[in-house]
Amino acid sequence: MIIQPKSRGFICTTAHPLGCAVQVQEQINYVKSHPQLSGPKNVLVVGASTGYGLASRIVSAFGANANTIGVYFDKAAEGARTASAGWYNSAAFETAAAEAGLKSYSIVGDAFSNEIKAKTIDLIKSELGKIDLVVYSVASPRRVHPDTGEVFSSVIKPLGEVYTNKTVNFHTGEVTEVAIEPATEDELRQTIAVMGGEDWQMWIDALQAADALTADATTVAYNYIGPSITHAVYRDGTIGAAKNHLLETAHNLNDQLKSTGGRAFISVNKALVTQSSSAIPVVPLYISALYKLMKEQGTHEGCIEQIYRLFTERLYIDGATPVDEDGQIRIDDLEMNPELQAEVAKIWEALTTENVYDLTDLEGYRDEFFGLFGFGVEGINYELDSEPNVDIHNLK
Ligand code: NAD
Repeated sequence: MIIQPKSRGFICTTAHPLGCAVQVQEQINYVKSHPQLSGPKNVLVVGASTGYGLASRIVSAFGANANTIGVYFDKAAEGARTASAGWYNSAAFETAAAEAGLKSYSIVGDAFSNEIKAKTIDLIKSELGKIDLVVYSVASPRRVHPDTGEVFSSVIKPLGEVYTNKTVNFHTGEVTEVAIEPATEDELRQTIAVMGGEDWQMWIDALQAADALTADATTVAYNYIGPSITHAVYRDGTIGAAKNHLLETAHNLNDQLKSTGGRAFISVNKALVTQSSSAIPVVPLYISALYKLMKEQGTHEGCIEQIYRLFTERLYIDGATPVDEDGQIRIDDLEMNPELQAEVAKIWEALTTENVYDLTDLEGYRDEFFGLFGFGVEGINYELDSEPNVDIHNLK
């Protein structure tokens, strides 16, 4: 099959197996070219196939020689449809892990369900014994509650009042004003149910009840804070409220785990181009402005650099993990540098359709967006036939 990108808004409905594989290998190479870390040995990553979760799995496996279980919701190829990018990423990861002699397993299914939790725990018990690091990196638009069957949908909306700001169509470069109506009480409740901490808590409770966690296990979930430009739609909006719930959950989990030497953290990460962040209005334009400056200043990082730093400079160091006044790990420190943010704010004021390619790295944004699906990767001839059916080694 000749596989080309087919995009609709912030969704690309095709993915390229070879392009995805090359990029996974690049992340592995990055980790292997840096000092090894001693830390996790048996790692569970929930939301492991793309973005921050995939990077967490790669750093665990290739940075610390850890055995890993990845849980994710991706689709295999079927008929004229390619598999999803996360499927191809995971296939490449599993092959590389097997070649490196690491134990690694994939579970594809709904992480919010009781079935997938039970299946994962059975696998842990039979293959790994106990887990000492649980990374929770699920980003999803909906969740079916495992006990009540209620279907929750998350929305990305401000709270209280209409929010108006600039946004960009990153395919065309058109900069427009977007006005987003505030969320209703019910939309807020549902967003917290999807992106808050309830499911993370359920995972840890289930793992603990099954005696599948080491006494000193660590767990971490990810958050974003970002600058004031995005606050109304992110930090102070529905997603921010869900993330506050995630932070409360981290504190609860820390209390739950600490008596035996365990730990729970939130890590606040940098804004990066992922399938989830491209869906948030305003954010792609902000990221484009940010990237232009960070690339010029040599401080730009992707998911793999961020997570390598999280593991080596925060989670697995001698002594206590440094946290901010809310108890959160900050690896968004380079993004949030005040001088840098002042420069971003200046660019933001001036931004129009006419100057967007000069003032921001919108082209880089678009390249990274298609890169998420394995397109635009150097050395790959996209005119050639590719086999869309790719098996995942050790799919359980
Ligand atoms: P992503 O879209 O790249 O990855 C989401 C992962 O969740 C995928 O592996 C997907 O398969 C999995 N998933 C989704 N629904 C699932 C389900 N029902 N069952 C099992 N797996 C499921 O997202 P990302 O941007 O890497 O986000 C991961 C976390 O990092 C989120 O908590 C997000 O808020 C946070 N974060 C993201 C950014 C950013 O800019 N992208 C910045 C800081 C923090």
